[in-house]
Amino acid sequence: MSEPPVWDVLIAGAGPAGSELAWRLAQQGQRVLLLDPLQDLQRQAFSSAALPLAAVEQFGIPDHVVAARWDRWQLIGPDETSRLWQGQSCLGAVLDFGALRCWMARRASAAGAQLDLGWRAEGSEPDGADGLQTQLRGAGGEVRSVRSRFVVDATGQRRALIGEDQASLVCGAGVEWLLRVDPLAWQRWSSRLSFVLGSRWVPQGYGWVFPMRPGELKLGVCRLEDPGRRQPPLHRLIQTLMQRLEIQPQEVLDRHGGLIRSSIDRREPHQRGRLLALGDAVSTANLLGGEGIRYALASAAVLAPLLNSALEGDQSALDRYPAQLRRQLGWRWSLSGRLARRTWLGLRSRRADARLQRLLTGLEASASAEALSQLLFDYRFERYGLRALPYLLGWR
Ligand SMILES: Cc1cc2nc3c(=O)[nH]c(=O)nc-3n(C[C@H](O)[C@H](O)[C@H](O)COP(=O)(O)OP(=O)(O)OC[C@H]3O[C@@H](n4cnc5c(N)ncnc54)[C@H](O)[C@@H]3O)c2cc1C
Repeated sequence: MSEPPVWDVLIAGAGPAGSELAWRLAQQGQRVLLLDPLQDLQRQAFSSAALPLAAVEQFGIPDHVVAARWDRWQLIGPDETSRLWQGQSCLGAVLDFGALRCWMARRASAAGAQLDLGWRAEGSEPDGADGLQTQLRGAGGEVRSVRSRFVVDATGQRRALIGEDQASLVCGAGVEWLLRVDPLAWQRWSSRLSFVLGSRWVPQGYGWVFPMRPGELKLGVCRLEDPGRRQPPLHRLIQTLMQRLEIQPQEVLDRHGGLIRSSIDRREPHQRGRLLALGDAVSTANLLGGEGIRYALASAAVLAPLLNSALEGDQSALDRYPAQLRRQLGWRWSLSGRLARRTWLGLRSRRADARLQRLLTGLEASASAEALSQLLFDYRFERYGLRALPYLLGWR
């Protein structure tokens, strides 16, 4: 007979999803091992990490993780026009993604989880009726095997353990540069989320300028991959964006990037036996706004009590996970995910720019900054008439 597993749950990936789950389970007294190939969670901070205020409050994100707050929207394009919507009060935050990961992992450790950095999970196999064996590889190539009752794949869009059906994933690729700029240049972009839209700026995608801490800006581009077309390299788009927006950095502090990949309909398996997945590994990121932190956190909040019940003997509790997560994300999330593909892939012609121009002019005349937040973060399209939506987005 094999030894009883040492760990109740092994969580692969200390991103927002994995660390949130580790913290929640450790608080319930579960023996949790959380691991990540990064040796320093401050590094490879690939995410722009813009969030609406409600998410910052809901998940208790502390001030020291918040790099900047914003209270206005700025939309530039499809020509050189810039439109500004000023809110009545704070609408959201831009986080320091590295600091967020460090804080979340430390919080999980403080609750009792063991954090092993510099370790990558390579595969999990069933081991008897009550556990799994997971193969781990360290930064120096050393190998070890860990037995646990459950394993959670929180490896983000890589889906390192649960696997993927590559053909069915829609892929957005993003690159972002962290720039040091002079105080005047920073002031010009502070307190706002600025997006740059239109095929002559970023075909089949969008650009952004977000404020970080004083003197630092994040400048990025993201676009959906279109296998049917040759697309310009992302770094070239960033350089063009910088020139046209007249941003002259004193220094490029960091260049990072990553993928957001989603099955859109989220029908992929969330569980294989005692192996579960959450966050980007089950397509919770939304491709319309290119954001996924709050959905990754929400997926951990849904899974934690179900996994707790399973650890206490009610394994059938896990059957409810996909449906509960779908309900938590809601129909607006689903609709916006489906709109993302058409919206971004279609943004590659003068005609699409003309439609975008009409949409922005309409929003300028009728929407407040708060209403824009509801549209772009809460996907409240019906405010503009659901029947008008296909026209706005170019379906007809
Ligand atoms: C360019 C860009 C900009 C973005 N901007 C925003 C934004 O402004 N707002 C927003 O909300 N979202 C944004 N996102 C999306 C957001 O960052 C993700 O949705 C979110 O980080 C997903 O969290 P996660 O924990 O599921 O996965 P991740 O954050 O991807 O975490 C996965 C972790 O798993 C680790 N890992 C990988 N392989 C293994 C392995 N084999 N074993 C163990 N661990 C492994 C990784 O090192 C990583 O730490 C952006 C994404 C990109 C690419």
